[in-house]
Amino acid sequence: MAAVALTSEGEEDVTAKLAQVHLDGSSDEALEADQIKVGTKKKKKKKKPKNKKPAVSYPSSTHFFNGLNEEWTMETDGKNKIPPLGEIPPAEPTPPPETPQETAKWTALLKNNRRKLTLPAFGLLDETSRSVLDTFLTPGCKNVELETPRLKLRQVQRGDLTGIRKIKTEPIVQKTQLYGAPTLGLIQPAFQTRYIRSSIPRITTGHSRGYREEYIFAITALNPDEITLSSGDQLKASNRISDAKGYLAGNIALRLDLHGNLFPIPGQPALHPTFQQCDEAGLTGTLFYEIHPQLWGQGLMREAFREVVRFAMEEVGCESVLSDPMVGNEASIRLCLAIGMHLIKETTDNPYGKHQLVHSISRMEWYRLNRPELNLSEVGKGHWGGKEVCRWCLNPRLWNPVVVCKCGWARYCSRECQRADWVWVGGHGTECTSNQ
Ligand SMILES: [Zn+2]
Ligand SMILES: [Zn+2]
Repeated sequence: MAAVALTSEGEEDVTAKLAQVHLDGSSDEALEADQIKVGTKKKKKKKKPKNKKPAVSYPSSTHFFNGLNEEWTMETDGKNKIPPLGEIPPAEPTPPPETPQETAKWTALLKNNRRKLTLPAFGLLDETSRSVLDTFLTPGCKNVELETPRLKLRQVQRGDLTGIRKIKTEPIVQKTQLYGAPTLGLIQPAFQTRYIRSSIPRITTGHSRGYREEYIFAITALNPDEITLSSGDQLKASNRISDAKGYLAGNIALRLDLHGNLFPIPGQPALHPTFQQCDEAGLTGTLFYEIHPQLWGQGLMREAFREVVRFAMEEVGCESVLSDPMVGNEASIRLCLAIGMHLIKETTDNPYGKHQLVHSISRMEWYRLNRPELNLSEVGKGHWGGKEVCRWCLNPRLWNPVVVCKCGWARYCSRECQRADWVWVGGHGTECTSNQ
C-alpha cells in the first residue's frame, strides 16, 4: 500500500472526457451500452444472503402489524412467505496493487493541473457538465447495489430515461405521487439527472450539506422471465412495457435529513459514522418509491421497500425511517404498516398542499422486529460505523482505502476517486496540507 503523490489531472484528459460523454441516453442503444459497461466492470460475485433462515416471523401480537402479516403473501408463486431479509455483505476484497505502468499513467494524468470542476446544483446538465459528472461519478460511487429474491436495486444510469418517463407520465401513477403530472421537459432535469447526481455523495444541492442527500435505486428484475406483466390495457399506449428487462420497474429513494455534519473533517481520515454519531447528527431517512403499474400486485415493492429500510438502518445508520403516502394510497399505507411502521402524524406541509400520512419506524423498533436474536446493547455490532472509507465515494462496502495522498490523511479506494476529489471545487485540492 504505497503512498502515491497526488497532483491534479491534465487538461487534455478533461478535454478528452468532454468529447466522449453523452448523458441523454434515451435510446435503447445507450441503455445497452450502459448495461454492457456495468456488466463488464462489476464482475463481483452475487452476494447471496448467507442467512437462509426464512421468514423472520412477526409475532401477531405486536402492535406494529395490526394483523397485516398476510400482506407478505407473494402472489406470483402462491406461497405464503415473507421475503428473506438481506444482510450487511462482507466488504469487497482489496484489489491487486497498481503496476508501475499504472502508477506512471496516473501520475501523468494527475500532473500539473489545478483546474477545478463543479456541477450545477439543479437542472439539466449541458455537455460540459455531463463530462464533469463522468469524472465525479467514479466506480466507487456506482458500486452500491441491493438485492432481494427477485430484484436488483442499482444506481440510476444514463439510459434509464425512457423507463423513467413511462412511469412519471402515466396518469395511474401520478395519482399516487406528490409530484403529480410533470411535463415531459421536466422529467429529465428534475428526475433523471437528479437521480444520477445523487450517486455522488459529496456533491449536494443544499438540502443537507452535512452529508450525502439521497440514495436512489433503480428497480430492475434479477430474472426478467420470472416477473409477471399485466396487460397494461388501462395505461397510455406509450407507457406500456412488453418485458421486464433493464430499468423498468421503477425506483425507490432513501432521502437523508440531518442537522449535524457527517462529512469527512479536514486533517482526519474519513470514517463511516457510528450509530452514536448518526444519532447526534439526527440522521433520518425518508422513502420515496414508485413502480410501473404493469408490475403491481406481485409484492415487488414490498421486497424493495423492506431491503431499503434494512439498508437504511443497518448500513447507513438512520435513527428512524419515514414514509409519507398520500391519503387514499391504500397500497402504500399497507406497505408501511407491514414493514412495522406506524402513523405518527398527518400533514399538508408540502409544496403541493396535499394530505399525507407520515409513518415511521425507529432503529430500535426495526431491530426488535428483524433481529430479535440481538440484545439491544448489541445493536450496531457489525455496522460499518468507524470503518475508514474512501474520502470521495464514502462507500463503506469497499476495501480500506489504498490510494494515499502525500498529506497522509486523505485516502481513496481508487485513483478515480482521488482524481475526483482533487479536481472538485470543494474537494481535497483546497484542504490538502502537504506541500505540492
Ligand atoms: Zn472511492
Ligand atoms: Zn492531501
